[in-house]
Amino acid sequence: MKHASPQPFEKAFPQTNHPDLPPSAASLINNRVITVEEAEQLIADSLETLPSETVSIEDALGRVLRETLRADRNAPPFNRSTFDGIALSYAAIEQGRSAFPITGTAFAGSPRLSLDDSNACVEIMTGAPLPDQADCVVKVEDLDIVDGTARIREGTPLDRGHGVHPEASDCQAGQVLLEPGCQLTAKELSIAASIGKAELLVSQIPRISIFTTGDELVPIAAQPLPHQIRRSNDLALDSALASTGYVQTRRFHILDDLKETESVIASILEQSDIIILAGGISKGKRDFLPEALETAGVSKSFQWVAQRPGKPLWFGDYTINDRKSYVFALPGNPVSCFTCLHRYVLPALDQLCGLPARAPQYAKLKSEFQFKPPITLFLPVLIEYDANGQTWAEPLPFNTSGDYISVARTQGFIELPQNETQFVSGSAHRFRPWQT
Ligand code: AMP
Ligand code: MG
Repeated sequence: MKHASPQPFEKAFPQTNHPDLPPSAASLINNRVITVEEAEQLIADSLETLPSETVSIEDALGRVLRETLRADRNAPPFNRSTFDGIALSYAAIEQGRSAFPITGTAFAGSPRLSLDDSNACVEIMTGAPLPDQADCVVKVEDLDIVDGTARIREGTPLDRGHGVHPEASDCQAGQVLLEPGCQLTAKELSIAASIGKAELLVSQIPRISIFTTGDELVPIAAQPLPHQIRRSNDLALDSALASTGYVQTRRFHILDDLKETESVIASILEQSDIIILAGGISKGKRDFLPEALETAGVSKSFQWVAQRPGKPLWFGDYTINDRKSYVFALPGNPVSCFTCLHRYVLPALDQLCGLPARAPQYAKLKSEFQFKPPITLFLPVLIEYDANGQTWAEPLPFNTSGDYISVARTQGFIELPQNETQFVSGSAHRFRPWQT
């Protein structure tokens, strides 16, 4: 197999010394080129968990729990039979008895019976309460039942407690079953249902506004003129958000016009928890977003991150009616935009909703790789799993950070740290999958 050479990356990311950062601005903290780790920390420190709300359990799938759920009673709530068969006293078997007259039938859903004669038995169904005095269930396959008497077949392995799911063996009343911060999937909802929680306290759903910018961009169904291109970032962002479970989104497109940009941003601030902007954030003459965001009163945290792709990455926050909201302005280039969404915005959304950070994934470089600029590289990779349980990442060469066609073949990216230049084959690195 042909391995990726460093060459295409040098072409894709020419080695420069941050030429687009004016030296005069470098001293200002929020105009500084910060590291990926600093950016991550600034975002994490700024985020406040969304308010909670009470919803019906029927509407709670995928939501993040914000209360502690405890068992309302023991589970199981009684000694329950795990077989269809007979319930008896094991002491009778120890005394050598193998034939038991049947004195009654215990059904699931019927009150508990009593085994008054320790030399008799009660017919019992799976899920029924074990009769008082009984401590063993023999399954129907191990019995011959003739004329109201059950005979246990020779050689049937039995013991005290056989066929019994003892009361409280799964959990005791009052025990914590689910903690705040857990995402409610089918498994968790079945627990909530079993303890009678018809309503659940969960995080509100984040309201997300997606803006794309650019005079050159036309709708998907339009026939572009030679100098125009079709919009793709907005749908890509929306789809990645939806497949992560963030579905409350709205999309807007703004032309490269300062007045329009300002008025659209002002109109949307109050109804958004997160605003994601794409394009118009760098140093171009029609990159109006930094100015428009400032006019709108969004407080900038940082604008430049030492990373490729995605150096122009603007983050800030604002508060309206005591509710804090956040703005991520991502570079317009499709690969940069998509990478920054995965690296920063999706984890931020998780944190906003009260979810703990997802367990990190790692992959080993399949081939040696060099990257000289002192910045973090987000390198798209093809993933392979070998029979030894190892995950291998093969770097995929691509043309520029606008080359979304090559990147579509990859499964995600690995993060190569900024303080190294030579990455040996077999070295392990943090891997982040694309949301599919
Ligand atoms: P900008 O960050 O506005 O300078 O845009 C950088 C590049 O990304 C330009 O070539 C844009 O045409 C492209 N771009 C920006 N937004 C989108 C979009 N929504 N869909 C596809 N390409 C875009
Ligand atoms: Mg633009």
